[in-house]
Amino acid sequence: MTPDEFRIFGHSLIDWIADYRAGIRTRRVWSDAKPNAVLEQLPSSPPFDPDSPQNLLADLEQIILPNISNWQHPMFYGYFPANSSLEAVLGDLVSSGLGQLGLNWAASPALTELEQRMLEWMQQISGIPNHMKGVIQDTASTATMVALMSARERSTDYALARGGLQAESQAQMIYFSAQCHSSIEKGGLLAGFGKDNLRIVPVDKNFDLIPAELEKMILEDITLGKKPCAIVATVGGTTTTACDPLPEIGRIAREYKLWFHVDAAMAGTAMILPEKQHLFAGLEGADSLCLNPHKWLGATFDCSLYYVSDPEHLVRVMSTNPSYLQTSTDGQVVQYRDWGVPLGRRMRALKLWFLLRLEGVTKLQSRIRRDCENATWLEEQIKNSSEWKVLNPVRLQTLCIRHVPNGLEAVELDKHTLAWVNEINSSGAAYMTPAMLDGRWMVRVSIGALETTREDVMQLWALMQEAVQR
Ligand SMILES: *Cc1c(COP(=O)(O)O)cnc(C)c1O
Repeated sequence: MTPDEFRIFGHSLIDWIADYRAGIRTRRVWSDAKPNAVLEQLPSSPPFDPDSPQNLLADLEQIILPNISNWQHPMFYGYFPANSSLEAVLGDLVSSGLGQLGLNWAASPALTELEQRMLEWMQQISGIPNHMKGVIQDTASTATMVALMSARERSTDYALARGGLQAESQAQMIYFSAQCHSSIEKGGLLAGFGKDNLRIVPVDKNFDLIPAELEKMILEDITLGKKPCAIVATVGGTTTTACDPLPEIGRIAREYKLWFHVDAAMAGTAMILPEKQHLFAGLEGADSLCLNPHKWLGATFDCSLYYVSDPEHLVRVMSTNPSYLQTSTDGQVVQYRDWGVPLGRRMRALKLWFLLRLEGVTKLQSRIRRDCENATWLEEQIKNSSEWKVLNPVRLQTLCIRHVPNGLEAVELDKHTLAWVNEINSSGAAYMTPAMLDGRWMVRVSIGALETTREDVMQLWALMQEAVQR
């Protein structure tokens, strides 16, 4: 494709994306595709001669569009907002267009320095402690794994330079609550800790980790000759928006010399609201923190920020320095390849730059505030309806709810819950995620798609009330 051909097809593709977004309300929210629906329409071999952009566009329309779930739909209340703001879409397009690969600073000076500045901007508006330094990772899963590897190496005095974990005489232990995201366990396993050395700390009635239980487990492990290594605390737990008490956990981490990682992947976006920053009090004691602007903020997947208190330690754990990557500017500049697992990096900071500049912080704040207010509104409706229950403290924009008609319990209640939520989900009018809480099904309503207004939430409440009548 020549630049001129790109210009023509590119313009029509931009129009196509704009039309998709403008008309998204006319589509169903969650896909009702049957397994293999797409595979059956795709040729089993690639074409050997060039196809035309028109044919490709027609297939996007006929094969792809009917078989996607519309995450950007205003009636999307599933999982978490995976917002892809159009500002960020354009920034991401520039990243691909420039085709940069940040192997080191010299390979793309602007890639590195824009990333540094965007991490500082986000730090400033989010109230992240000044002494921390950040890097963009692909996902929170990677950030957590990097945190746990860093914990492992600090606790073992750099065992990687000797026999690694395999040569350690003491088992290294990690602690987290059952309300943590599944990526914490995965990160712990992949960082080599082993399942026996992951400990699940009990939570209180708000689903927040109980610090006294954490301390008890640490003391037990020390008595057994094991080495407490890291604690992962969550602000904004996946199921219920649990907020583990950071100040107490920080005190315990300091006292027993544990690495203290804070996972604020989803809720971290709310740090841009001064009235929500209290949820993050105690962050100054953390060794590492991750938050995902690719969720609620709108920076388009993938963009996960990872901040650490001791970047030198991170670099010592992650760095390899073969001769072909050494340059004359080493030492004066940041080499982000030494701040994580991948060597090459995309220019992800562009989408944050576009988002922050073209929207401005004030507009972003109002959108996030709007979502929290919509959640509070729905919470009030539900609390004022005798058969409905809100099961979690609504700290941000996620509600965990059940409809409990007279006398219904246990298996019957589960059936009822799944019946009404599946009816709404399969109708295509809205989408919510059913999930387990304390061994029973409930429904998560996560508010915060870019276009979700109060009217949309009112519409959802009407749909829910209708669905339980049937
Ligand atoms: C979404 C989420 C994750 C995982 O995020 P990825 O970026 O997809 O890896 C981890 N922790 C929490 C609290 C989350 O909300």
